[in-house]
Amino acid sequence: MGLFDKIKRTLNIKDNSKDLEPKSIEKKSNNSSQTLQNNNLNTLNPDSVKSDLFKKEKLDNTLVKTREGFFNKMKVFFSGKNTIDDDFLDSLEEMLISADIGVPTTIKIIESVERYVKKNKYIDDQELKHILKQEIIQLLNLNDNSNNINTQHKPYVMLFVGVNGVGKTTTIAKLAHSLKIQGNKVLIGAADTFRAAAIDQLDSWANKINVPIIKQSMGSDPASVAFDTIQSGIANDMDYILIDTAGRLHNKINLMAELEKINNVINNLISTAPHEVILVLDASTGQNALEQAKQFVKSTSVNCLAITKLDGTAKGGVVISICDQLSIPIKYIGVGEAIDDLQLFNKVSFVDSLFK
Ligand code: GDP
Ligand code: GDP
Ligand code: MG
Repeated sequence: MGLFDKIKRTLNIKDNSKDLEPKSIEKKSNNSSQTLQNNNLNTLNPDSVKSDLFKKEKLDNTLVKTREGFFNKMKVFFSGKNTIDDDFLDSLEEMLISADIGVPTTIKIIESVERYVKKNKYIDDQELKHILKQEIIQLLNLNDNSNNINTQHKPYVMLFVGVNGVGKTTTIAKLAHSLKIQGNKVLIGAADTFRAAAIDQLDSWANKINVPIIKQSMGSDPASVAFDTIQSGIANDMDYILIDTAGRLHNKINLMAELEKINNVINNLISTAPHEVILVLDASTGQNALEQAKQFVKSTSVNCLAITKLDGTAKGGVVISICDQLSIPIKYIGVGEAIDDLQLFNKVSFVDSLFK
């Protein structure tokens, strides 16, 4: 089974039980099959049972601030009440909005809670927690945006886009590392040529994780770096090519034009590429992340999302509104600054950790 079949399965809530089962890494075959196999971030650590538990624990810890922000508020306004009336629903609405779930998604949740309490007038905070959890899972499930990216490509080209500072470079390093330790040949392209520091940062990661990098000098044409990277990737029989881009230009129009040029250069060399255009968003910016996504989606062909910095923020609720409001699937989440702090996003695990 290919990487993205696995990812699809992981993103598909109904199939989730299977993904909680221990997995093992099969050694990648040496034949020249064009199919990529066995590349699942869930098996980052070959000791997979331990790894799954570790990942779950890591996610639980990552979401601690979001969870506490959310449920402490709930406890406070619950104290002394057990009737769900209009006042109560108003406070609940306020709480969800302040947890960065956003207005449209909050309204949907409140409506479901209303429907529930029409039938059951008295509930306690545990019950409410349970209802909220079920409603959120159902909401995310209804809006199932599992993606249908075809994985049968080699090299498999991933282009990372997003504004400055969201975590593009770090996410590339994390993903390149995990693909590499699963036995893949990985190449990185430094197409954020705007500042020397951006090239140096990626270069230093590439050295650390021992992955080759294609770079040019600062100020060179990013599309030219992309061209070199793809050519080298093809010539050297790479499995994965990950390309970094700049997040800030003189203005948004320049940035979008540059991304389009990079996209076209890649596409001229490999007609099916880029296979993934990953928009990286910083969860700690809350609803701004959602707004950024809407802007990018208008002008670039983003087909999946990486949400970073979920650790250390109380704004993790934004993930729920992103799932609800955008038709683009979240594929990766950043849970820290270290090289293995990247996880595949799974809706059910996420909501589980949020309501733990
Ligand atoms: P870029 O400008 O989009 O390339 O962003 P960088 O990759 O340079 O990251 C900006 C900062 O965010 C760096 O200090 C990273 O270490 C940090 N960062 C990236 N991802 C995460 C994450 O998941 N968690 C935390 N805590 N920090 C992160
Ligand atoms: P900072 O703007 O103070 O964070 O410092 P930088 O070294 O990042 O940027 C220095 C100058 O370059 C500033 O005038 C920025 O507006 C400009 N600049 C920074 N990044 C970019 C970029 O990606 N593209 C363009 N065109 N200008 C940039
Ligand atoms: Mg960068």
